[in-house]
Amino acid sequence: MQEMNQIPLAISSPANIKEYFSRYILEVKKLSSGSEYNYKRGLKKVSQCMKEMGLVEESIYEIGTIEGLDAAWQKLKSDSDFSAMDRNGHRMYSSGFNCYRKFATGDMFHEYSSIDVKTLDAPMKLEKPVKVEYKIWKRSGIMRTQTVVLANYACDIDHGHATFTAASTGHQYMEAHHIIPLKLQERFSSSLDVYANLISLCPICHRKIHLGIKEERRLMIDDIYEKRKDRLVKCGFVFGKEEFEDLVMGG
Ligand SMILES: [Zn+2]
Ligand SMILES: [Zn+2]
Repeated sequence: MQEMNQIPLAISSPANIKEYFSRYILEVKKLSSGSEYNYKRGLKKVSQCMKEMGLVEESIYEIGTIEGLDAAWQKLKSDSDFSAMDRNGHRMYSSGFNCYRKFATGDMFHEYSSIDVKTLDAPMKLEKPVKVEYKIWKRSGIMRTQTVVLANYACDIDHGHATFTAASTGHQYMEAHHIIPLKLQERFSSSLDVYANLISLCPICHRKIHLGIKEERRLMIDDIYEKRKDRLVKCGFVFGKEEFEDLVMGG
């Protein structure tokens, strides 16, 4: 698979997304087939240009995340030839993209009655699975398990956080999390897959530390820093608090 210019990639099933997009325009937004044609035509050109820039393999419909869409669009827009073409074409390409982005984010979905949304229900074509190749840093599943046991099956953020009894252990379910993300491994000469860099989190705290708003993530990260800084130093990871925050928040 070609290098994707570092656009976060989740591969969606392009033919299905394209079909859903058509249905969205026609059946949900109730626009004319002329509008549908124009939006699709705009996107076809957008896809073609993205392909030429190595941002997608075939079409925009294969980009599976909003972040990916935005990143690809920013790159495309920064291309002066494309911008000029868009201006001369009465912004047909931008409007195609904007409409597609709205579809992708579920914009206005809540305004349509469930009856309208049901018009999207139809058997969809099953596409062949794809083989993907990517690099990962080795991490130990055993150490993940041990981390949770070491924490006595509690959440390291707050021992009061309750989950449920896991069938695999008969104990409260918890997840192991790498404090300094493994994707930053290249910056360090020693392994990040060490006990000091692993904590046990309840599923809510785990999602929150990855996906929560900045302010709340920062509070968690500060708390973890205080609890783990000495152990991290022993493993060769020496950081001041702010440096640690930047590293973990950014990563
Ligand atoms: Zn994690
Ligand atoms: Zn928790």
